[in-house]
Amino acid sequence: MLFSKFFAPTSKDTPADAQIASHRLMLRAGMISQTASGIYCWLPLATRVLEKISRIICEEQDKIGAQKVYFTTIQPADLWIESGRYDSYGKEMLRLKDRKDGEFLYSPTNEEQATDVFRKYVHSYRGMPIMLYQIHWKFRDEIRPRFGIMRGREFLMKDGYSFDLNFEDARRTYRNIFQSYIKTFRRLGLTPVPVQADSGAIGGNMSHEFHILAETGESTLYYDKKLPTATDEDLETIYAVADEKHDPKTCPIPEEELMISKGIEVGHIFYFGTKYSKAMNAFVLNDKGDKVFPEMGSYGVGVSRLVGAIIEASHDERGITWPESTAPFDAVILNLHVKNDKCRRMAEKIYDALSSKKEVLYDERNITAGEKLADADLIGIPWQIIVGPKNAENDIVELKNRKTGEVTNMTVSEIINRFIR
Ligand code: ATP
Ligand code: MG
Repeated sequence: MLFSKFFAPTSKDTPADAQIASHRLMLRAGMISQTASGIYCWLPLATRVLEKISRIICEEQDKIGAQKVYFTTIQPADLWIESGRYDSYGKEMLRLKDRKDGEFLYSPTNEEQATDVFRKYVHSYRGMPIMLYQIHWKFRDEIRPRFGIMRGREFLMKDGYSFDLNFEDARRTYRNIFQSYIKTFRRLGLTPVPVQADSGAIGGNMSHEFHILAETGESTLYYDKKLPTATDEDLETIYAVADEKHDPKTCPIPEEELMISKGIEVGHIFYFGTKYSKAMNAFVLNDKGDKVFPEMGSYGVGVSRLVGAIIEASHDERGITWPESTAPFDAVILNLHVKNDKCRRMAEKIYDALSSKKEVLYDERNITAGEKLADADLIGIPWQIIVGPKNAENDIVELKNRKTGEVTNMTVSEIINRFIR
């Protein structure tokens, strides 16, 4: 991609109303454009990141046998009247009428619809277990949308729904998802902190939130100081709760071993048993011909919030420092002197060689070297290939790691081999 053709309206100005780093940086890097309170357009850089995150999520969901679908963004109110949530969901739900005065809503979540699909097609234990998920836009009319896309009204969520025949199976599913979420967040370059969340359901604690530690997080977390080094298995049981669940009187961890940090909630998983299957009369016949209501769970990831959370965890005073797995491009080539023949030839050679195998942005804009370097640092692509006139004389270009600042001098063919192995 040529930077001159790429739609990334970057800006030097610090937006006055953006309170946290990720919001400021997303605006300055030309990633998002606000269209109303809590409602944003996702411009090309941000869209590429959303797609990278989504792909990793899908790969990990595939591995545990979850199948991707698209439920709908518009649902009939009837489904929610059946489950009993139409009134209780309250003002966060955006309610709509169609031309025939039929009542609809924009999905804030899809438990009812998943249950409805299940009951229409699955009538026997042979069709189970089943796990469906989607990555789709949600709308919640949050009272206080804030921090840019972090708490938006329209946001992208991965939401999954599981149906099992009995509690044992449901518990196994829950644990599989738990471990799969840990892997997913690690692949996104993050360190997830799973905390035990409220759960009215039977069978012990079967609801966890996944947080990313960040000073700007909305939640306060209390956790065992061993957590950062715990194995994935131990993470299921180690003490970690959000403030509303923490009670110093009953906390099993001595005060000196307790850590307190702010966290951003990026995922939430629940086991809720037969709540929806019973309410919506979704049942199957088991091998003895008895009626069984499936044990269900639902599993959410804030895909769009993750973009903000990753930036909160990966930035410095100059801009974003994307982890390689979610970066909008693998590398950016900075031609510091576009009118210099040697620079142009070297930069184009690298660009041609890399762009068939890698996602490469080539900054060939006719602007100053300083502006280019500042933009590259701002948008935070992990590797900068810097082609400047002095080094070009000696057939050398610089490979700079955006995060560490480390610079290595390389020849054109070394650079090409470095990225294409
Ligand atoms: P929160 O406590 O932040 O409001 P929630 O408990 O309402 O979250 P869930 O219904 O469990 O959220 O949704 C699953 C995930 O979707 C959350 O873990 C979060 O990452 C994301 N999410 C929820 N609300 C928003 C929002 N308004 N904007 C962006 N992402 C959101
Ligand atoms: Mg909420």
